[in-house]
Amino acid sequence: MNNTHGPPSFQLADTHCHLYTPPLSQDAPAVLSRATARGVNQFIVPAYDIDSWQTMDALSRLPGVFTTLGLHPWAADQVAKLFHSMDSENPPEPNNPQDRNIPPGEQPSSTTNPLPLLAAQCAGLRLEMETALSKPPPGFKPSPSFKIIPPPIAIGEIGLDYKIDIAGGQPGPELQRLVLRTQLELAVDNNLPVILHCRGAFEELLGEIKRFAGRLRGVLHAYSRGSDPAVHFINAGLHIGLGGAITRDRAKRVRLAATNLPLDKIVLETDAPYIGLDGVLPVDTEPGHVRDVAEALATLRCDTIETIAEVTTNNARELFQLPD
Ligand SMILES: [Zn+2]
Repeated sequence: MNNTHGPPSFQLADTHCHLYTPPLSQDAPAVLSRATARGVNQFIVPAYDIDSWQTMDALSRLPGVFTTLGLHPWAADQVAKLFHSMDSENPPEPNNPQDRNIPPGEQPSSTTNPLPLLAAQCAGLRLEMETALSKPPPGFKPSPSFKIIPPPIAIGEIGLDYKIDIAGGQPGPELQRLVLRTQLELAVDNNLPVILHCRGAFEELLGEIKRFAGRLRGVLHAYSRGSDPAVHFINAGLHIGLGGAITRDRAKRVRLAATNLPLDKIVLETDAPYIGLDGVLPVDTEPGHVRDVAEALATLRCDTIETIAEVTTNNARELFQLPD
């Protein structure tokens, strides 16, 4: 990544980068100083599983870094590890589908009557996260491994992913939905924005969001589809996170969406090191590349990078309550 465009006259925010993932984690301070040299000086680092929660304290001490807390759909089955926080003297019986007259291999269809064990695990998840929000319920003792978690600026990364290998044992739709719902409720109750991941489940995710109409704010991150779904999510109160996809000529759908969506609903991100840019492999992506995303957006919208930077950075600051 070079800095051939001269010293930056603007400020950018990377609203989604995984600084605890290699290779970024190998020297996060150097990654951040390279980003700062390109005008990127605020960084939101979404946690997505219990291991990543443990890295938030150290990362939150780096300049310009803001951390979050969430359980990603890929890691939704980790709620089972949080069960211990609940009433350990009277744990609910593990749910056995055969006992409930559900054919083996089939998911129960209704979420209105959640499975007792999963409901207890989700309650455990909520207790752990509330502890991080400095609001432990009376009498609740956090498990020692979860003690050091800085107060998150958002709940994320959470969401639904129906493209993972559910048949191969990865978290299924029912589990994902309940874990998501628990975290959406927590976000609304604590007036925190959410950072949402979605693959193959846009209608289902929109349905979950609409349950909190008017009370939920946040970002649908790594957006790669056309204008239509984005407009529905914007109408439901969300911002759209644009990243490396818009730098690729072939990504016609999302480039058209990036051109037409209201700029005051767009925030920028890299999702480094998971998503590449035109000519940059995912593993080589760093938060500093958010400048390339901003330049691509400026070209698409026939606007200046200064305007794109000013508006999208203000959007991010307002949404996540970041300092100027
Ligand atoms: Zn991510």
